[in-house]
Amino acid sequence: MPTYDYRCPRDGTFALRFPIGEAAPGVRCVTCGAEAVRVFAPPMLNALPRPLVAALDRTGRSAEAPEVVSRIPDGGRGRRRTPHPGHARLPRPD
Ligand SMILES: [Zn+2]
Repeated sequence: MPTYDYRCPRDGTFALRFPIGEAAPGVRCVTCGAEAVRVFAPPMLNALPRPLVAALDRTGRSAEAPEVVSRIPDGGRGRRRTPHPGHARLPRPD
C-alpha cells in the first residue's frame, strides 16, 4: 500500500497508508484529532544518494553543454602512448 502525506495545522505532516486510489482528501490528525489535509509531494526525491544525484546532474549538463577538449590531454608532448608495451613490437606498415 502506498503512503500518503497529510498536514495538520498544529502538528505538521504525518503519513498514512491507503490502498491505491482510496486516499481520503482529509483525515483526522493522528495526534490531536483536528482536520488534516492531504499534501502532494514528489515521492522519494530526498532519498536519492548524493553520488547518484551528482551523476544525474553531470549527465544533464553533458547533454546540454558537453565539455570540449581543446588540447591534447598529455600536454602535447608528442609521444603517443599505447596501453600495452607489446604494441611496440607489432609489425609496422612499410
Ligand atoms: Zn494535529
